[in-house]
Amino acid sequence: MNTDSKNYLLICEIGPIYDFVRQSRKTVDFWGASFLFSYVMSEVARDITNNGGTLFLPYLDNNPMYRRNGTIACGSVPDQIYATFTDSQRSAIENGLKTIIEEIVKTIALKVGKLAEQKGKAGVFDHGELKDFFHFFYTIHEIKDAQPTFEEFLEAERKIRIRSALRPFRQITGNNSIAKWEKCSLCGDRKRIYSKVVDKDAGLYNEEHICSVCLLKRFLPEAVTFIFSGTKAEFKKPRYRSSSDIAFSPIKACIDTADDEMKQAYKAFIRECEQISEEKDSEGRFFYDPNLRKKFTAWKKSLTEKYQDKIKLPWLDRPFYSIISMDGDNMGNNLKENWENRQDVSRIISDFSNDVDDIVSKNHGQLIFAGGEDISFVIHPEYLLGCIGELNNLYNGYFLKNDLTKPMAEKFTLSAGVVVCYHKYPLSQAILSACGMLRKAKKFRGKNATAISLIKGHTETFNFAFSNKLIGDLKRLKELLLSADISRTTPYRIKESEEVLKAITDVRHKENYLYTIIAGTRGVDKTNAEIMEIVGLLMKFEGIDAMINALLYARFLAGDK
Ligand SMILES: [Zn+2]
Repeated sequence: MNTDSKNYLLICEIGPIYDFVRQSRKTVDFWGASFLFSYVMSEVARDITNNGGTLFLPYLDNNPMYRRNGTIACGSVPDQIYATFTDSQRSAIENGLKTIIEEIVKTIALKVGKLAEQKGKAGVFDHGELKDFFHFFYTIHEIKDAQPTFEEFLEAERKIRIRSALRPFRQITGNNSIAKWEKCSLCGDRKRIYSKVVDKDAGLYNEEHICSVCLLKRFLPEAVTFIFSGTKAEFKKPRYRSSSDIAFSPIKACIDTADDEMKQAYKAFIRECEQISEEKDSEGRFFYDPNLRKKFTAWKKSLTEKYQDKIKLPWLDRPFYSIISMDGDNMGNNLKENWENRQDVSRIISDFSNDVDDIVSKNHGQLIFAGGEDISFVIHPEYLLGCIGELNNLYNGYFLKNDLTKPMAEKFTLSAGVVVCYHKYPLSQAILSACGMLRKAKKFRGKNATAISLIKGHTETFNFAFSNKLIGDLKRLKELLLSADISRTTPYRIKESEEVLKAITDVRHKENYLYTIIAGTRGVDKTNAEIMEIVGLLMKFEGIDAMINALLYARFLAGDK
């Protein structure tokens, strides 16, 4: 190698990922938005390496999207890419970066445009709007050797942050001139180019409108099938279209194990609904639609009668779903302390993210994004806690298996921000709140935590954070509440006794007092094993409020309306 040649660290970033992802009406939009940004960045990474650059972060050598080999279930490349190169490669790389985004977006828009024409009233893509929307930028930072030191890495990061903050304010010219009924139903900002009649319960005055930019997410699953055809990659389509489908997932799981008579009757109802529905795309929506649900009344009754003992159906008339945003704890510090082993660390994280889909799918969820230790998915609250626990075990287990990372494996944990809400609760609002809850989980002492916001109605919301070490206890608490006879007023009576409980310093005395409150006036004998176990579980939650929240959340899971 020419010793006079200079070395560089390149950082590329794309935005505005957050706005784009958040402006979603259906689960499939959320999935599509994350996928699109990932796909664009994987193509950027391919272009850099094709022009002689070397990827520095993230590790993508085992990434199915980047390699175009393996199963692609969702977006998996983050919005920032770091690469190194030398003088001789500089001009080829920079020239590539100048045109790549426009080329990729154009290719996708072409596919999406054709699909839109088949599915609704579609106009012509506004390519100017597409071009304006994606903000792709990069900085090049000179480094001493072929690989950056941690200090050089930090310095380059600081540069891209400044660059990112300097992003030109997008002039929203002429948008005031767009009539209200011409605006996109997803972003509420740009002009529609596509319209489709929707069902009455969609709350959209009959038609849904989508703009040039938002249309890319809606038809992405179909468009992507074309993009990856002819490669070794196998594309896995998202299994749910809407949040109602997720709310319906435990019932669906029950139907799958039911007898043929129940299954056939169910299928007949769905066919009937499809004929009436405009959108025709979601069994969950049919099942919970105020106009269609009456069809299922008798069927639900016999399902409950037949399977009461075998399968618990507390969700039959309670359509809830949840959104989860997860992230690795202590990442900045972990990277610093493992700078010498950073290749191992990033490869481990990448291996982990390839395995996430299996766990989420097994728990009836839909993975939205898994890029490194940054994960988001939608899932039913019934399967939520188990899934978070499994993901954490998998993540931590990878670091335990590797000799280099084993000594500090305990620092590699994941925290989760969760919103649990009614199936009609706006998806965009839920996505926003899940990110807020993740920030709360990160502030939890010791990290490795989950923060849940349970939105039961317009006025009833409660937030609750706990250590992931207590996930199993919370699940057990729910099971006990299903079988034990506990008064509905228990949480309030614990609250009433807060001062007394706080004043008791002796653990045994505190347990006894709690036992008396929970046993209440029901005349339970002094050694009721279930209540003793509930007391033991509640004592693990620090503070009276955490105790009450654990009880309230477990009760929600157990079927309390
Ligand atoms: Zn839009």
